[in-house]
Amino acid sequence: MAQPSALGILSDIFGYKAFRPGQEEVIQACLDGQDTLVLMPTGGGKSLCYQIPALLLPGLTVVVSPLISLMKDQVDALMASGVQAACLTSALSPQKQSEVMSQVRDGQIKLLYVAPERLMQPYFIQRLQDLSVSLFAVDEAHCVSHWGHDFRQDYMALGQLKHFFPGVPVMGLTATADAATRADILQQLDLKQPFVYQGSFDRPNIRYTQIQKYKPLDQLERYIREQEGSGIIYCNSRKKVDDVSYKLANRGINCAGYHAGMEPEIREIIQRDFIADNIDVIVATVAFGMGINKPNVRFVAHHDLPRTIESYYQETGRAGRDGSPAEALLLFDEKDVARIREWISMTENPQRQQVELQRFAAMEAFAESQTCRRQVLLNYFGEYNATACGNCDICLDPPKRFDGTVAAQKVLSCIYRLEQSAASQYLIDVLRGKKLKRIIDAGHDQLSTYGIGKDEPDAWWHNLINQLIHQGLARVDITQNAVIKLNEAARSVLKGEMAVNLAVPRMSLNLGKKAKLD
Ligand code: ADP
Ligand code: ZN
Repeated sequence: MAQPSALGILSDIFGYKAFRPGQEEVIQACLDGQDTLVLMPTGGGKSLCYQIPALLLPGLTVVVSPLISLMKDQVDALMASGVQAACLTSALSPQKQSEVMSQVRDGQIKLLYVAPERLMQPYFIQRLQDLSVSLFAVDEAHCVSHWGHDFRQDYMALGQLKHFFPGVPVMGLTATADAATRADILQQLDLKQPFVYQGSFDRPNIRYTQIQKYKPLDQLERYIREQEGSGIIYCNSRKKVDDVSYKLANRGINCAGYHAGMEPEIREIIQRDFIADNIDVIVATVAFGMGINKPNVRFVAHHDLPRTIESYYQETGRAGRDGSPAEALLLFDEKDVARIREWISMTENPQRQQVELQRFAAMEAFAESQTCRRQVLLNYFGEYNATACGNCDICLDPPKRFDGTVAAQKVLSCIYRLEQSAASQYLIDVLRGKKLKRIIDAGHDQLSTYGIGKDEPDAWWHNLINQLIHQGLARVDITQNAVIKLNEAARSVLKGEMAVNLAVPRMSLNLGKKAKLD
Protein backbone atom coordinates (compact mmCIF):
# COMPACT_ATOMS: atom_id res chain seq x y z
CA MET A 1 0.00 0.00 0.00
CA ALA A 2 1.27 3.45 -0.89
CA GLN A 3 2.15 5.80 1.93
CA PRO A 4 -0.79 8.07 2.68
CA SER A 5 -0.08 11.70 1.84
CA ALA A 6 -1.37 14.94 3.29
CA LEU A 7 -3.36 15.60 0.15
CA GLY A 8 -4.75 12.06 0.21
CA ILE A 9 -5.99 12.50 3.76
CA LEU A 10 -7.42 15.90 2.93
CA SER A 11 -9.61 14.36 0.29
CA ASP A 12 -10.23 10.84 1.65
CA ILE A 13 -10.97 11.73 5.25
CA PHE A 14 -12.06 15.36 5.13
CA GLY A 15 -13.52 15.44 1.65
CA TYR A 16 -11.75 18.59 0.40
CA LYS A 17 -9.99 18.92 -2.93
CA ALA A 18 -7.36 21.54 -2.20
CA PHE A 19 -5.53 23.11 0.70
CA ARG A 20 -6.37 26.53 1.92
CA PRO A 21 -3.52 29.08 1.96
CA GLY A 22 -0.88 28.08 4.47
CA GLN A 23 -2.19 24.64 5.40
CA GLU A 24 0.18 22.66 3.23
CA GLU A 25 3.29 24.59 4.33
CA VAL A 26 2.39 24.25 8.00
CA ILE A 27 1.65 20.54 7.67
CA GLN A 28 4.93 19.97 5.87
CA ALA A 29 6.97 21.87 8.45
CA CYS A 30 5.28 19.90 11.18
CA LEU A 31 5.93 16.57 9.48
CA ASP A 32 9.56 17.62 9.20
CA GLY A 33 9.62 17.88 12.97
CA GLN A 34 9.67 21.68 13.15
CA ASP A 35 7.87 23.81 15.73
CA THR A 36 5.21 26.01 14.11
CA LEU A 37 3.08 29.04 14.83
CA VAL A 38 -0.10 29.40 12.80
CA LEU A 39 -1.80 32.78 12.60
CA MET A 40 -5.02 32.58 10.64
CA PRO A 41 -8.30 34.41 11.03
CA THR A 42 -11.32 32.53 12.36
CA GLY A 43 -12.57 30.12 9.72
CA GLY A 44 -9.19 30.09 8.01
CA GLY A 45 -8.81 26.35 8.56
CA LYS A 46 -6.45 26.04 11.48
CA SER A 47 -7.71 22.67 12.72
CA LEU A 48 -6.56 20.73 9.68
CA CYS A 49 -3.04 22.07 10.24
CA TYR A 50 -2.64 19.65 13.14
CA GLN A 51 -5.35 17.09 12.36
CA ILE A 52 -3.69 15.97 9.14
CA PRO A 53 -0.20 15.60 10.69
CA ALA A 54 -1.88 13.70 13.53
CA LEU A 55 -3.00 11.08 11.04
CA LEU A 56 0.37 10.89 9.32
CA LEU A 57 2.65 10.84 12.34
CA PRO A 58 3.25 7.49 14.08
CA GLY A 59 2.31 8.43 17.65
CA LEU A 60 -0.25 10.42 19.55
CA THR A 61 -1.16 14.06 18.91
CA VAL A 62 -2.18 15.98 22.00
CA VAL A 63 -4.37 19.02 21.40
CA VAL A 64 -4.64 21.64 24.10
CA SER A 65 -7.79 23.73 24.01
CA PRO A 66 -9.37 25.98 26.62
CA LEU A 67 -13.02 25.29 25.88
CA ILE A 68 -14.66 21.98 26.70
CA SER A 69 -17.58 22.59 24.34
CA LEU A 70 -15.20 23.29 21.47
CA MET A 71 -13.21 20.14 22.14
CA LYS A 72 -16.32 18.07 22.18
CA ASP A 73 -17.54 19.48 18.86
CA GLN A 74 -14.21 18.76 17.25
CA VAL A 75 -14.01 15.24 18.58
CA ASP A 76 -17.56 14.49 17.45
CA ALA A 77 -16.77 15.80 13.97
CA LEU A 78 -13.57 13.75 13.78
CA MET A 79 -15.26 10.56 14.92
CA ALA A 80 -17.96 11.12 12.32
CA SER A 81 -15.18 11.13 9.70
CA GLY A 82 -13.83 7.92 11.12
CA VAL A 83 -10.86 9.45 12.95
CA GLN A 84 -9.97 8.00 16.34
CA ALA A 85 -10.21 11.00 18.62
CA ALA A 86 -11.17 11.57 22.21
CA CYS A 87 -11.22 14.30 24.77
CA LEU A 88 -10.26 14.20 28.37
CA THR A 89 -12.01 16.75 30.51
CA SER A 90 -13.30 17.15 34.02
CA ALA A 91 -16.78 16.77 32.55
CA LEU A 92 -16.16 13.03 32.15
CA SER A 93 -16.69 10.59 35.00
CA PRO A 94 -13.49 9.12 36.52
CA GLN A 95 -14.42 5.80 35.02
CA LYS A 96 -14.82 7.25 31.54
CA GLN A 97 -11.53 9.06 31.96
CA SER A 98 -9.63 5.89 32.71
CA GLU A 99 -11.33 4.22 29.75
CA VAL A 100 -10.04 6.97 27.50
CA MET A 101 -6.57 6.62 28.98
CA SER A 102 -6.44 2.92 28.36
CA GLN A 103 -7.53 3.46 24.76
CA VAL A 104 -4.73 5.97 24.43
CA ARG A 105 -2.27 3.49 25.91
CA ASP A 106 -3.39 0.83 23.47
CA GLY A 107 -2.75 3.19 20.57
CA GLN A 108 -6.43 3.32 19.63
CA ILE A 109 -6.51 7.10 19.77
CA LYS A 110 -4.68 9.36 17.33
CA LEU A 111 -5.88 12.73 18.62
CA LEU A 112 -6.36 13.46 22.29
CA TYR A 113 -7.92 16.78 23.30
CA VAL A 114 -7.12 17.95 26.81
CA ALA A 115 -7.54 21.07 28.89
CA PRO A 116 -4.24 22.72 29.83
CA GLU A 117 -4.65 22.28 33.59
CA ARG A 118 -5.03 18.57 33.05
CA LEU A 119 -2.15 18.21 30.66
CA MET A 120 0.42 19.83 32.91
CA GLN A 121 -0.28 17.79 36.00
CA PRO A 122 2.88 15.79 36.87
CA TYR A 123 1.18 12.38 36.81
CA PHE A 124 -0.30 13.12 33.41
CA ILE A 125 3.01 14.32 31.99
CA GLN A 126 4.56 11.09 33.26
CA ARG A 127 1.96 8.95 31.61
CA LEU A 128 2.46 10.77 28.34
CA GLN A 129 6.21 10.35 28.61
CA ASP A 130 5.67 6.60 28.69
CA LEU A 131 3.78 6.82 25.42
CA SER A 132 4.92 7.94 22.04
CA VAL A 133 3.73 11.52 21.54
CA SER A 134 4.32 12.89 18.04
CA LEU A 135 2.89 16.40 18.29
CA PHE A 136 1.49 18.96 20.69
CA ALA A 137 -0.99 21.44 19.22
CA VAL A 138 -1.83 24.45 21.37
CA ASP A 139 -5.07 26.01 20.20
CA GLU A 140 -5.90 29.61 21.16
CA ALA A 141 -2.20 30.05 21.78
CA HIS A 142 -2.60 33.76 22.62
CA CYS A 143 -3.92 32.60 26.02
CA VAL A 144 -0.31 31.90 26.98
CA SER A 145 0.59 35.58 26.79
CA HIS A 146 -0.01 38.32 29.30
CA TRP A 147 -0.21 40.56 26.27
CA GLY A 148 -3.01 38.57 24.74
CA HIS A 149 -6.62 39.54 25.28
CA ASP A 150 -7.44 36.31 27.03
CA PHE A 151 -4.53 35.35 29.24
CA ARG A 152 -5.09 32.10 31.13
CA GLN A 153 -3.05 31.06 34.09
CA ASP A 154 -3.35 27.41 33.05
CA TYR A 155 -1.65 28.15 29.78
CA MET A 156 1.48 29.45 31.42
CA ALA A 157 2.67 25.99 32.39
CA LEU A 158 2.64 24.98 28.72
CA GLY A 159 6.06 26.59 28.47
CA GLN A 160 7.33 23.42 30.15
CA LEU A 161 6.23 21.17 27.28
CA LYS A 162 9.50 21.66 25.46
CA HIS A 163 11.33 20.79 28.66
CA PHE A 164 9.47 17.53 29.26
CA PHE A 165 9.30 16.54 25.58
CA PRO A 166 12.39 18.06 23.97
CA GLY A 167 12.12 16.21 20.67
CA VAL A 168 8.40 16.60 20.10
CA PRO A 169 7.25 19.43 17.81
CA VAL A 170 4.84 21.99 19.22
CA MET A 171 2.35 23.91 17.11
CA GLY A 172 0.72 27.10 18.39
CA LEU A 173 -2.46 28.35 16.69
CA THR A 174 -4.37 31.55 17.11
CA ALA A 175 -6.78 33.85 15.29
CA THR A 176 -5.72 37.04 16.95
CA ALA A 177 -2.30 38.16 17.95
CA ASP A 178 -0.76 41.57 17.64
CA ALA A 179 3.00 41.77 17.19
CA ALA A 180 3.74 41.88 20.93
CA THR A 181 1.54 38.89 21.68
CA ARG A 182 3.03 36.92 18.85
CA ALA A 183 6.58 37.41 20.02
CA ASP A 184 5.45 36.47 23.48
CA ILE A 185 3.79 33.23 22.30
CA LEU A 186 7.03 32.14 20.66
CA GLN A 187 8.90 32.85 23.85
CA GLN A 188 6.37 31.43 26.32
CA LEU A 189 5.94 28.20 24.39
CA ASP A 190 9.69 28.11 23.95
CA LEU A 191 9.38 27.27 20.26
CA LYS A 192 12.70 26.44 18.63
CA GLN A 193 13.37 28.12 15.27
CA PRO A 194 9.71 27.82 14.42
CA PHE A 195 8.05 28.00 11.06
CA VAL A 196 5.61 30.91 11.37
CA TYR A 197 2.68 31.12 9.02
CA GLN A 198 0.97 34.48 8.99
CA GLY A 199 -2.33 34.29 7.15
CA SER A 200 -3.98 37.42 5.88
CA PHE A 201 -6.49 39.06 8.17
CA ASP A 202 -7.76 41.32 5.44
CA ARG A 203 -11.47 41.31 4.68
CA PRO A 204 -11.42 43.32 1.47
CA ASN A 205 -15.19 43.33 1.03
CA ILE A 206 -15.79 45.13 4.32
CA ARG A 207 -15.77 48.89 4.08
CA TYR A 208 -14.68 50.59 7.30
CA THR A 209 -16.26 53.91 8.16
CA GLN A 210 -16.11 56.09 11.23
CA ILE A 211 -18.28 59.08 11.96
CA GLN A 212 -18.66 61.47 14.82
CA LYS A 213 -21.33 60.08 17.15
CA TYR A 214 -24.04 62.67 17.38
CA LYS A 215 -27.69 61.81 18.10
CA PRO A 216 -26.83 58.17 17.46
CA LEU A 217 -30.41 56.99 17.17
CA ASP A 218 -31.02 59.32 14.24
CA GLN A 219 -27.72 58.31 12.71
CA LEU A 220 -28.46 54.62 13.06
CA GLU A 221 -32.01 54.87 11.81
CA ARG A 222 -30.90 56.68 8.67
CA TYR A 223 -28.04 54.29 8.22
CA ILE A 224 -30.19 51.19 8.56
CA ARG A 225 -32.71 52.54 6.08
CA GLU A 226 -29.94 53.09 3.54
CA GLN A 227 -28.74 49.50 3.84
CA GLU A 228 -29.92 46.51 1.92
CA GLY A 229 -30.13 43.40 4.05
CA SER A 230 -29.58 42.65 7.67
CA GLY A 231 -27.10 43.84 10.24
CA ILE A 232 -25.90 43.91 13.81
CA ILE A 233 -25.57 46.93 16.09
CA TYR A 234 -23.18 46.46 18.98
CA CYS A 235 -23.63 48.40 22.21
CA ASN A 236 -21.42 48.25 25.27
CA SER A 237 -24.07 47.47 27.90
CA ARG A 238 -27.27 45.50 28.33
CA LYS A 239 -29.08 48.65 29.32
CA LYS A 240 -28.03 50.36 26.12
CA VAL A 241 -29.12 47.35 24.11
CA ASP A 242 -32.58 47.45 25.69
CA ASP A 243 -32.85 51.17 25.14
CA VAL A 244 -31.61 51.30 21.55
CA SER A 245 -33.58 48.28 20.38
CA TYR A 246 -36.76 49.61 21.96
CA LYS A 247 -36.37 53.02 20.36
CA LEU A 248 -35.42 51.72 16.94
CA ALA A 249 -38.40 49.35 17.02
CA ASN A 250 -40.60 52.32 17.86
CA ARG A 251 -39.30 54.02 14.76
CA GLY A 252 -40.43 51.08 12.68
CA ILE A 253 -37.17 49.16 12.35
CA ASN A 254 -37.59 45.40 12.38
CA CYS A 255 -35.12 44.71 15.16
CA ALA A 256 -34.58 42.79 18.37
CA GLY A 257 -32.25 43.14 21.33
CA TYR A 258 -29.89 40.40 22.43
CA HIS A 259 -27.74 40.10 25.53
CA ALA A 260 -26.68 37.57 28.11
CA GLY A 261 -29.24 38.83 30.62
CA MET A 262 -32.11 37.51 28.52
CA GLU A 263 -33.73 34.10 28.84
CA PRO A 264 -31.82 31.48 26.85
CA GLU A 265 -35.03 30.38 25.05
CA ILE A 266 -35.73 33.93 23.91
CA ARG A 267 -32.17 34.40 22.79
CA GLU A 268 -32.38 31.24 20.78
CA ILE A 269 -35.57 32.34 19.06
CA ILE A 270 -34.09 35.73 18.21
CA GLN A 271 -30.96 34.15 16.86
CA ARG A 272 -32.98 31.74 14.74
CA ASP A 273 -35.21 34.51 13.39
CA PHE A 274 -32.21 36.62 12.50
CA ILE A 275 -30.60 33.76 10.63
CA ALA A 276 -33.89 33.08 8.84
CA ASP A 277 -34.11 36.76 7.81
CA ASN A 278 -37.25 37.35 9.86
CA ILE A 279 -35.46 39.98 11.90
CA ASP A 280 -33.45 42.64 10.03
CA VAL A 281 -31.35 44.09 12.79
CA ILE A 282 -29.98 42.69 16.03
CA VAL A 283 -29.01 45.19 18.69
CA ALA A 284 -26.59 43.32 20.91
CA THR A 285 -23.79 43.22 23.40
CA VAL A 286 -20.66 41.25 22.58
CA ALA A 287 -22.57 38.19 23.75
CA PHE A 288 -24.02 37.97 20.26
CA GLY A 289 -22.19 36.45 17.37
CA MET A 290 -19.96 33.72 18.74
CA GLY A 291 -20.57 30.66 16.67
CA ILE A 292 -23.35 32.25 14.66
CA ASN A 293 -22.97 31.49 11.02
CA LYS A 294 -24.95 33.92 8.91
CA PRO A 295 -23.08 34.65 5.70
CA ASN A 296 -25.22 37.52 4.45
CA VAL A 297 -24.91 40.01 7.30
CA ARG A 298 -24.55 43.25 5.35
CA PHE A 299 -23.48 45.64 8.08
CA VAL A 300 -22.10 45.79 11.58
CA ALA A 301 -22.41 49.11 13.39
CA HIS A 302 -20.79 50.00 16.69
CA HIS A 303 -22.91 52.33 18.75
CA ASP A 304 -20.05 52.47 21.25
CA LEU A 305 -16.32 52.21 20.92
CA PRO A 306 -14.97 48.69 21.57
CA ARG A 307 -12.08 48.35 23.97
CA THR A 308 -9.70 46.49 21.70
CA ILE A 309 -8.92 46.07 18.04
CA GLU A 310 -9.29 42.31 18.48
CA SER A 311 -12.91 42.63 19.51
CA TYR A 312 -13.57 45.25 16.85
CA TYR A 313 -12.09 42.96 14.24
CA GLN A 314 -14.05 39.91 15.46
CA GLU A 315 -17.31 41.83 15.60
CA THR A 316 -17.01 43.60 12.26
CA GLY A 317 -15.82 40.30 10.80
CA ARG A 318 -19.35 38.97 11.16
CA ALA A 319 -20.33 41.14 8.20
CA GLY A 320 -19.95 39.93 4.65
CA ARG A 321 -18.88 36.34 5.22
CA ASP A 322 -20.36 35.61 1.79
CA GLY A 323 -17.74 37.86 0.21
CA SER A 324 -20.24 40.43 -1.09
CA PRO A 325 -19.76 44.10 -0.16
CA ALA A 326 -20.46 44.81 3.49
CA GLU A 327 -20.16 47.72 5.88
CA ALA A 328 -18.59 48.38 9.24
CA LEU A 329 -19.64 51.64 10.86
CA LEU A 330 -18.10 53.02 14.01
CA LEU A 331 -19.81 55.84 15.89
CA PHE A 332 -17.06 57.68 17.64
CA ASP A 333 -17.26 60.02 20.57
CA GLU A 334 -14.44 61.30 22.71
CA LYS A 335 -16.69 60.82 25.75
CA ASP A 336 -16.58 57.07 25.17
CA VAL A 337 -12.82 57.24 25.19
CA ALA A 338 -12.75 58.97 28.54
CA ARG A 339 -15.28 56.53 29.97
CA ILE A 340 -13.37 53.47 28.85
CA ARG A 341 -10.13 54.90 30.22
CA GLU A 342 -11.92 55.37 33.50
CA TRP A 343 -13.06 51.73 33.55
CA ILE A 344 -9.60 50.52 32.74
CA SER A 345 -8.13 52.65 35.49
CA MET A 346 -10.26 50.68 37.94
CA THR A 347 -8.50 47.46 36.97
CA GLU A 348 -6.74 46.39 40.14
CA ASN A 349 -3.81 44.49 38.74
CA PRO A 350 -1.35 47.18 37.57
CA GLN A 351 0.20 45.02 34.88
CA ARG A 352 -3.23 44.13 33.52
CA GLN A 353 -4.15 47.78 33.55
CA GLN A 354 -1.07 48.71 31.55
CA VAL A 355 -1.84 46.08 28.96
CA GLU A 356 -5.47 47.15 28.69
CA LEU A 357 -4.47 50.77 28.27
CA GLN A 358 -2.08 49.98 25.47
CA ARG A 359 -4.59 47.84 23.71
CA PHE A 360 -7.19 50.52 24.04
CA ALA A 361 -4.77 53.13 22.73
CA ALA A 362 -4.48 51.05 19.55
CA MET A 363 -8.26 51.00 19.20
CA GLU A 364 -8.38 54.71 19.69
CA ALA A 365 -5.68 55.24 17.09
CA PHE A 366 -7.75 53.23 14.64
CA ALA A 367 -10.84 55.31 15.32
CA GLU A 368 -8.94 58.58 15.06
CA SER A 369 -6.85 57.56 12.09
CA GLN A 370 -6.33 60.09 9.31
CA THR A 371 -4.77 57.45 7.07
CA CYS A 372 -6.29 54.35 5.47
CA ARG A 373 -8.13 52.53 8.23
CA ARG A 374 -7.50 49.10 6.81
CA GLN A 375 -3.78 49.76 6.88
CA VAL A 376 -4.03 50.68 10.56
CA LEU A 377 -6.08 47.58 11.30
CA LEU A 378 -3.85 45.13 9.45
CA ASN A 379 -0.76 46.77 10.80
CA TYR A 380 -1.96 45.92 14.25
CA PHE A 381 -1.98 42.26 13.27
CA GLY A 382 1.50 42.61 11.82
CA GLU A 383 0.39 42.71 8.22
CA TYR A 384 1.99 45.53 6.27
CA ASN A 385 0.28 46.83 3.18
CA ALA A 386 2.17 49.38 1.21
CA THR A 387 -0.90 50.71 -0.53
CA ALA A 388 -4.07 52.26 0.83
CA CYS A 389 -7.14 50.08 0.43
CA GLY A 390 -9.56 52.20 -1.56
CA ASN A 391 -12.45 50.81 0.49
CA CYS A 392 -12.60 52.78 3.72
CA ASP A 393 -13.90 56.24 4.52
CA ILE A 394 -10.44 57.76 4.55
CA CYS A 395 -9.55 56.37 1.14
CA LEU A 396 -12.92 57.15 -0.43
CA ASP A 397 -13.22 60.62 1.03
CA PRO A 398 -9.83 61.78 2.26
CA PRO A 399 -9.98 64.21 5.16
CA LYS A 400 -9.33 67.78 4.19
CA ARG A 401 -7.38 69.96 6.57
CA PHE A 402 -7.71 73.60 7.45
CA ASP A 403 -6.18 76.21 9.73
CA GLY A 404 -8.39 75.72 12.75
CA THR A 405 -6.66 78.23 15.00
CA VAL A 406 -9.59 80.64 15.20
CA ALA A 407 -12.15 77.87 15.71
CA ALA A 408 -9.92 76.35 18.39
CA GLN A 409 -9.58 79.69 20.13
CA LYS A 410 -13.35 80.07 20.17
CA VAL A 411 -13.79 76.71 21.85
CA LEU A 412 -10.92 77.06 24.29
CA SER A 413 -11.86 80.54 25.42
CA CYS A 414 -15.45 79.44 25.87
CA ILE A 415 -14.26 76.57 28.07
CA TYR A 416 -12.29 79.13 30.04
CA ARG A 417 -15.24 81.54 30.37
CA LEU A 418 -17.45 78.69 31.54
CA GLU A 419 -14.87 78.06 34.26
CA GLN A 420 -14.11 74.58 32.95
CA SER A 421 -17.35 73.30 34.39
CA ALA A 422 -19.44 72.56 31.28
CA ALA A 423 -19.83 69.35 29.32
CA SER A 424 -19.54 69.46 25.54
CA GLN A 425 -23.22 69.96 24.67
CA TYR A 426 -23.58 72.91 27.02
CA LEU A 427 -20.38 74.36 25.68
CA ILE A 428 -21.74 74.10 22.16
CA ASP A 429 -25.09 75.57 23.18
CA VAL A 430 -23.26 78.63 24.48
CA LEU A 431 -20.98 78.85 21.45
CA ARG A 432 -23.97 78.69 19.15
CA GLY A 433 -25.89 81.24 21.21
CA LYS A 434 -28.90 79.09 21.96
CA LYS A 435 -31.66 80.79 23.94
CA LEU A 436 -32.02 78.08 26.55
CA LYS A 437 -33.42 78.73 29.97
CA ARG A 438 -30.50 77.19 31.79
CA ILE A 439 -28.04 79.32 29.86
CA ILE A 440 -29.93 82.50 30.54
CA ASP A 441 -30.52 81.59 34.20
CA ALA A 442 -26.79 81.08 34.62
CA GLY A 443 -26.09 84.41 32.92
CA HIS A 444 -23.99 82.67 30.29
CA ASP A 445 -25.71 84.61 27.53
CA GLN A 446 -23.67 87.55 28.79
CA LEU A 447 -20.32 85.86 28.08
CA SER A 448 -18.16 87.26 25.30
CA THR A 449 -18.10 83.82 23.72
CA TYR A 450 -21.90 83.48 23.59
CA GLY A 451 -22.98 82.97 19.99
CA ILE A 452 -19.53 83.21 18.38
CA GLY A 453 -19.94 79.76 16.85
CA LYS A 454 -23.40 80.02 15.35
CA ASP A 455 -22.17 79.56 11.77
CA GLU A 456 -21.54 75.85 12.21
CA PRO A 457 -23.94 73.11 13.33
CA ASP A 458 -23.72 71.23 16.63
CA ALA A 459 -22.13 68.10 15.20
CA TRP A 460 -19.38 70.15 13.59
CA TRP A 461 -18.44 71.59 16.96
CA HIS A 462 -18.62 68.17 18.60
CA ASN A 463 -16.11 66.88 16.14
CA LEU A 464 -13.92 69.94 16.55
CA ILE A 465 -13.89 69.56 20.33
CA ASN A 466 -12.90 65.92 19.90
CA GLN A 467 -9.98 66.94 17.76
CA LEU A 468 -8.83 69.51 20.32
CA ILE A 469 -9.00 66.82 22.99
CA HIS A 470 -7.09 64.47 20.80
CA GLN A 471 -4.41 67.07 20.20
CA GLY A 472 -4.00 67.46 23.93
CA LEU A 473 -5.42 70.98 24.21
CA ALA A 474 -8.39 69.99 26.33
CA ARG A 475 -9.63 66.91 28.17
CA VAL A 476 -12.85 65.28 29.34
CA ASP A 477 -13.12 64.91 33.09
CA ILE A 478 -15.21 61.82 33.44
CA THR A 479 -15.17 62.03 37.23
CA GLN A 480 -17.14 65.26 37.00
CA ASN A 481 -19.99 64.57 34.59
CA ALA A 482 -17.71 64.73 31.58
CA VAL A 483 -16.98 68.43 31.87
CA ILE A 484 -14.33 69.75 29.51
CA LYS A 485 -11.17 71.15 30.97
CA LEU A 486 -8.21 72.97 29.52
CA ASN A 487 -4.74 71.52 29.33
CA GLU A 488 -1.60 73.57 29.71
CA ALA A 489 -1.03 73.62 25.93
CA ALA A 490 -4.27 75.57 25.44
CA ARG A 491 -2.57 78.64 26.84
CA SER A 492 -0.32 79.19 23.82
CA VAL A 493 -3.21 78.72 21.41
CA LEU A 494 -5.27 81.27 23.31
CA LYS A 495 -2.36 83.69 23.32
CA GLY A 496 -2.01 83.27 19.57
CA GLU A 497 1.43 81.71 19.89
CA MET A 498 0.47 78.37 18.40
CA ALA A 499 -1.52 77.51 15.28
CA VAL A 500 -3.92 74.56 15.22
CA ASN A 501 -4.21 72.39 12.16
CA LEU A 502 -7.48 70.44 12.02
CA ALA A 503 -9.34 68.03 9.79
CA VAL A 504 -12.55 69.32 8.27
CA PRO A 505 -15.23 67.53 10.32
CA ARG A 506 -16.95 64.72 8.48
CA MET A 507 -20.63 65.38 8.81
CA SER A 508 -22.50 62.84 6.78
CA LEU A 509 -22.39 59.22 5.96
CA ASN A 510 -22.64 59.79 2.26
CA LEU A 511 -19.70 58.04 0.73
CA GLY A 512 -21.33 57.63 -2.63
CA LYS A 513 -21.46 54.32 -4.38
CA LYS A 514 -20.05 51.23 -2.79
CA ALA A 515 -16.61 50.40 -4.05
CA LYS A 516 -16.52 47.82 -6.77
CA LEU A 517 -14.78 44.64 -5.76
CA ASP A 518 -12.88 42.49 -8.18
P1 ADP B 1 -10.42 27.94 12.31
O1 ADP B 1 -10.06 26.96 13.37
O2 ADP B 1 -9.23 28.57 11.65
O3 ADP B 1 -11.43 28.96 12.72
P2 ADP B 1 -11.56 25.63 11.07
O4 ADP B 1 -10.40 24.76 11.19
O5 ADP B 1 -12.69 25.43 12.01
O6 ADP B 1 -11.11 27.15 11.11
O7 ADP B 1 -12.09 25.60 9.57
C1 ADP B 1 -13.15 26.38 9.15
C2 ADP B 1 -13.96 25.64 8.11
O8 ADP B 1 -13.24 25.52 6.91
C3 ADP B 1 -14.32 24.24 8.55
O9 ADP B 1 -15.64 24.01 8.19
C4 ADP B 1 -13.36 23.38 7.76
O10 ADP B 1 -13.88 22.10 7.55
C5 ADP B 1 -13.22 24.17 6.48
N1 ADP B 1 -11.95 23.89 5.80
C6 ADP B 1 -10.73 23.84 6.36
N2 ADP B 1 -9.79 23.57 5.44
C7 ADP B 1 -10.43 23.44 4.26
C8 ADP B 1 -10.00 23.17 2.91
N3 ADP B 1 -8.72 22.97 2.60
N4 ADP B 1 -10.94 23.13 1.95
C9 ADP B 1 -12.23 23.35 2.25
N5 ADP B 1 -12.69 23.60 3.48
C10 ADP B 1 -11.81 23.66 4.49
ZN1 ZN C 1 -8.46 52.57 3.07
